[in-house]
Amino acid sequence: MPHTLAQQTVPSDYFAPLAAQLGYLNADELEEVRAAYTFATAAHAGQTRHSGEPYITHPVAVAGQAAAWKLDAPAIAAALLHDVMEDCGVQHAALAERFGTPVADMVDGLTKLDKLQFSSREQGQAESFRKMLLATAHDMRVILIKLADRLHNMRTLGSSPQRKWARISGETLEIYAPIAARLGLHQAQRELQELALRFTHPWRYDVLRRAMHNARARSSSAIAQLCAQVQAAFAAAQVQAGISVHERTLPSVYRRMREGGRKTLAQVSDQHVLHVIASSPQQCYAALGVLHQLFKPVPGRFKDYIAMPKSNGYQSLHTELLGPKGTTLYVHIRTAAMILRKVSSASRYCARYSDSESLCFTSSKYISYRSTRRSS
Ligand code: MN
Repeated sequence: MPHTLAQQTVPSDYFAPLAAQLGYLNADELEEVRAAYTFATAAHAGQTRHSGEPYITHPVAVAGQAAAWKLDAPAIAAALLHDVMEDCGVQHAALAERFGTPVADMVDGLTKLDKLQFSSREQGQAESFRKMLLATAHDMRVILIKLADRLHNMRTLGSSPQRKWARISGETLEIYAPIAARLGLHQAQRELQELALRFTHPWRYDVLRRAMHNARARSSSAIAQLCAQVQAAFAAAQVQAGISVHERTLPSVYRRMREGGRKTLAQVSDQHVLHVIASSPQQCYAALGVLHQLFKPVPGRFKDYIAMPKSNGYQSLHTELLGPKGTTLYVHIRTAAMILRKVSSASRYCARYSDSESLCFTSSKYISYRSTRRSS
């Protein structure tokens, strides 16, 4: 049957691509998700986004992101339903009866988060707002769905009214990008930062993007040479490790140009990030030794997060080297298992917190702050 425009509004058209991402769910779970999709489609019927697309495309995109993070079936259902209380007046009881209390509670949590608005420009306020947000959410899945929601809203910010750009981008930079970072969702953090920069400083963003593109084209042969040099040194010392050089993202270059004596783009783009993946923790230290003999380490910059992991479980050796031709090399050394642990830290948070009553942030201080805000 040939596809027509009218067919795109058939509900199953939006569900099929989402279902394709849910291969990790069993048949019953997939049915639960489909029921949530059908419910949300009916609730949002007739509503459109600023772009003119049917509203349901938004919850589906949020659920798609949640699926990419491998959240469980109730969380995917909650992602699909996340705007039905706020936008369609569906009650908690109705959702609880249809989809169970956990799903209804998550949707309720997301609705409450939507009502908290970060407006203060004062230093230090962002941190207490982040804590308040985490305390309000109770369930870490709610925070993850909220991050997915923000990602999609940022990706589509261009079609909403321009007067909203600054506030939403500011909130994204100060609140949501740091939360993503804390959960180990570094790709989401980078995307949020980059989108926020694009909407707050479109001209700078454009100039910088072009300049970075040119700088990269110029430095690519030097990087290839450097990789060859490191690989040869590893081979000579029989270190089992692979390497890759990572380019700084645009927000990170922008931040570095602004802070610390306002560096030029040339100074910042002479900094490269070298990732070393070693076969075992012992080989990580061996690789470190080889690199410290190959290039001069910068004093005071070595950190051993393998022996002493960060509080979120992050493990790596960090060091900084003076590379060839005045370049600076930031080096991260870890095993493949440590990367896997890093990637799945969001789901670990999920497992750790979903059944516990409260987060570590629910100190009385923030609860009282919350109730003050609510009553106002
Ligand atoms: Mn939403």
